[in-house]
Formats: sequence, C-alpha cells, structure tokens
Amino acid sequence: MTAPNPAADAMTPYQFPNPPEAAKEIVVQNAIPTDERLWVPQAENVWFRPLCLNVSTGYWMNLLRVRKSGVLSRHRHPQAVHGMVLKGRWRYLEHDWIATEGSYVFEPPGETHTLYVPEDVEEMITYFQVNGVMYYCDPYGQFTGYEDVFTKVDMCRTHFTEVGLGADFVDQFIR
Ligand code: FE
Repeated sequence: MTAPNPAADAMTPYQFPNPPEAAKEIVVQNAIPTDERLWVPQAENVWFRPLCLNVSTGYWMNLLRVRKSGVLSRHRHPQAVHGMVLKGRWRYLEHDWIATEGSYVFEPPGETHTLYVPEDVEEMITYFQVNGVMYYCDPYGQFTGYEDVFTKVDMCRTHFTEVGLGADFVDQFIR
C-alpha cells in the first residue's frame, strides 16, 4: 500500500486494470425486452428472460413472465432465492401472502412451493436470482424433474436457434 495521492479526487477513476481472471461485466439494455424473441418459453403461459447465467458459481438471474393464470410447477429449493416483483402480482399455493408490484421476496433453502398468477392478472414479471437447482416434485415431494443453470443455458440455445438469433446468442449472458 502506498499513501493516498492528495491530487486524486472523488472523480478520478481507478487507475489500474481489474484482475485478469475477473469475468467480463454484463450490461443488458432494455432488460424487460419488447422483442418477443428474447422471452424463452418454459411452460404454458410462462417464459423467462436470461440476464446472467452463472455457470462458474451455479446460479441464474432472470425475469420470469407469467400471463393469465399461469403456474410455475411445484418445486423445492435447496438454496436461497431472491425475487423482486416488477409487474403484476402472484402468490404461492402454500402461503397466504401475495407478492405485489414492488415486493421483495426471499425464498429460504428447504422451501417447496407452487407459484400461481391469478386469472385477473394480465401479466406478471418478477426478477429472480435462483441458486443451485429447482427440484420439481409432486405434492408429496417425490422428484419429477429439475432445472439448473446448465438446463437454462440449453433451453436458451434451443429457443434462440429456433427464433433465428442463433445458438451463440446466449453466450453474452454466460459467466
Ligand atoms: Fe421458487
């Protein structure tokens, strides 16, 4: 450490490069896209918009969009999830609270739930950070399927190829 340079003020940018091992930053303009091709279909009335698919740490940041009485299938989280409702509202069949526009939600590890968007909500968009795995299950906890950051990448590649953006379009979101 050297002594602070008194000539440097608050507006002087950092003078050194970032570590060479550091991943490149991601900036997504129009994160809530108007280009319909950027929404990756996930189930009936359910889509996700990838923002950061972090294969080195095992999490993904995405917007979840659900229209009219869509359901995100029952699933268990072994790791925490953070969400912020950007539009509309939703609830879990397993809880009595409702997440409304502007709400922040913490889903603790160990939680199993079913996300439901009521009939009178035209469109719901929520920003979610999902860590590890989504373990899909029946009402009694028996395994029916899973998603992780790698299956999300695969879904994006397939979809972006189908809509003409190309399989490598997803690469900009992968770190
Ligand atoms: Fe969840």
